[in-house]
Amino acid sequence: MSALSRIGRFAPSPTGPLHFGSLVSALASYLDIRQRGGRWLVRIEDIDPPREISGASATILQQLDAHGLHWDGNVLYQSERLPSYLEALDQLKQKDLIYYCQCNRPRIQRLGGIYDSQCRYLQLAAKDNAIRFNVGDRVASQSKREAAAYLSFTDQIMGHYQQCLRAEVGDFVLRRRDGLFSYQLAVVVDDQYQGITHIMRGSDLLDSTPRQIYLQQCLGYSQPEYAHLPVAINPDGQKLSKQNHAAALVPGNEAHNLFTALVWLQQKPPAALAKQPITEILDWGIKHWSLAKIPGTLGMAAPQEF
Ligand code: GLU
Repeated sequence: MSALSRIGRFAPSPTGPLHFGSLVSALASYLDIRQRGGRWLVRIEDIDPPREISGASATILQQLDAHGLHWDGNVLYQSERLPSYLEALDQLKQKDLIYYCQCNRPRIQRLGGIYDSQCRYLQLAAKDNAIRFNVGDRVASQSKREAAAYLSFTDQIMGHYQQCLRAEVGDFVLRRRDGLFSYQLAVVVDDQYQGITHIMRGSDLLDSTPRQIYLQQCLGYSQPEYAHLPVAINPDGQKLSKQNHAAALVPGNEAHNLFTALVWLQQKPPAALAKQPITEILDWGIKHWSLAKIPGTLGMAAPQEF
C-alpha cells in the first residue's frame, strides 16, 4: 500500500467533551497516519440521540482543533448517513442474513447476553421489531461448520485475536426496535464509505472487531488494519469514559495534555519537549511515533491528574 493511500479516522460519539482517554485515541491515530503522510478524518457518530449531549460535537471539534489535531476534508456526521445504513441492511436482506426479532432486553439478560436466535425462523413483521444479524449461517454456500468457526485477525498492538461469533456474541442487533441503527452497522458502512485503511481506537472495542469484520465480509467491503490501544483506567479500575464522568480536558492545557499523552503511550518524549508549543510536540510525535513502544495490554492507569 502506498503511503498516501493510508486513511485513518477518529470517530467520537457526541456524548460529552473529550477526556484524557479519548485524546489518547485521537492523538495516536493522528500521529500514526501523519507519520506516513496519510489522510486523517473525523467522523461524529451521532446516531443515538438519547445518549447525546447537546453541543458536544462542537466542543469535541473545538478541542481537537485546540490540540492542533487538524483533520482533512469535512467532518462526516453519521446522522446524515441513514439512507446508506438502510441500503446496507437491504443488501444483507437479499442474502437472507437478517431477521426481525421481538425479544426484549430482560429476556436477553436472562440468556446471559448472548441471544439464542429464537426469532430467527419466525418470519416476524418489521413493525416494532429489532433487526438482527444472523451470524450462524453465512451465505447459503458455506457450511454450518465454517459458520461456527473462529473469526480471527492480527491486531497491530494486541496481536492475534480470535472470537467465535456464534458462541461468544450470538446474532446481534443492527437496528433497534425504536428504529435507531446500531454502532456496529454504522461504523462498518462508514469506514468503507470513507475508504478507511487503518483503525486505531481503544481496546474496549477489540471484541467488537470480529463482528465488524464479519459484516465487512458479508457486505463485500475491504478490511482495514486494526490497532487497539490500552484504555486509560481510573483508580476504581474503570475505563475513563463520559459515563464514568471522566474530567473534560481543561482549555489552556493543550501542550501539557499532548505531552502527557505521549508519555502515557510510552513514546518516551524528552523532558524538554514539555515546555514546547503544541506544534513542536506534534512534530516530535509524528517523527518519533512507534507502535512497537505501546504495551499490548488492555488497560493502563490514567495519569493521576486526569
Ligand atoms: N464512536 C465510538 C466511541 O466514541 C468509537 C468508534 C470507533 O472508533 O470505532 O466510542
